[in-house]
Amino acid sequence: MGAFNTLAITAKCSRCSNTYPANLQFKAGEVWQHRYNIHDVILDAPGKNSIGRKKIMAYGIVEDTKCPSCGNDNPPDYDILIDHCVIKGYEPIPDLSKYFDENDTDYYVIEDDEDK
Ligand SMILES: [Zn+2]
Repeated sequence: MGAFNTLAITAKCSRCSNTYPANLQFKAGEVWQHRYNIHDVILDAPGKNSIGRKKIMAYGIVEDTKCPSCGNDNPPDYDILIDHCVIKGYEPIPDLSKYFDENDTDYYVIEDDEDK
């Protein structure tokens, strides 16, 4: 497995509604084991991988799926909204097809300033 960044989140158990700290692995911007929190500005990547002028949805995989309270194994897949390199939010993904539709499954572009 290659390099990835992590985002610290609060996960919610789908069975008992307990919340617990978890880490999301994702690949966007400069990918090199950077650790982020919500609302952080992420380091951008050069050239064609730059997301500095884009609003994107990144594919996040949670490292800790097991609820520490009830032991339920929660779904690992999350959306991470990143707007001009600012981490805006995250939520569990109900539908993964968006990522499979794109050539690059690490994230998909919602808005690109260069198209305007
Ligand atoms: Zn639970």
